[in-house]
Amino acid sequence: MKDWLRRLWMNLQHIFYFIFGRNHKCQCGHKAKWKTKLTVNGECGVYTLKKSKENCPTCWANAAIKCAWCGGNICCGEPITLYTPKENSEIPSHAVVYKQTPHIQLVGCLRWDCAEGGIDRTGFWVMPGKVKRVASPMEILLGGEHDNILIVNDLHDQNEAIPIPDEIVKPDE
Ligand SMILES: [Zn+2]
Ligand SMILES: [Zn+2]
Repeated sequence: MKDWLRRLWMNLQHIFYFIFGRNHKCQCGHKAKWKTKLTVNGECGVYTLKKSKENCPTCWANAAIKCAWCGGNICCGEPITLYTPKENSEIPSHAVVYKQTPHIQLVGCLRWDCAEGGIDRTGFWVMPGKVKRVASPMEILLGGEHDNILIVNDLHDQNEAIPIPDEIVKPDE
């Protein structure tokens, strides 16, 4: 879709729901319209409540972070990588550290310039702003722990991913 058309469509939805939409009480305690226009770090989009109404648009936007490598947005629900920066390289201040030991691991996005490919998808960024570690396609291929090899069709789908519990991956608090 053309950019101006997308923006027009976004604004129309926003205005429509702002005027006619009713307020929904979200699980976070805030009220929100079914659709709300949102700007996250300069990126514009329309946030649609989920049926479960877990998060209002504000809480969701506040949980977004920037990719350690390109600085682009990583919003909740998006797939991520956990690369280790090269030794002695400077870590940008916006970078989110997943682990300090044994190697520092930074949360990055799965855009073309930032990831080697879907094979490096190692988790998802989830509410309220943390990493949900899942087996990467590479780990699944090499893994002895997971006997049943899974063919991952959609790397952006959390439901097709194998979660690794926090007790095993032990993220930094
Ligand atoms: Zn909220
Ligand atoms: Zn990136």
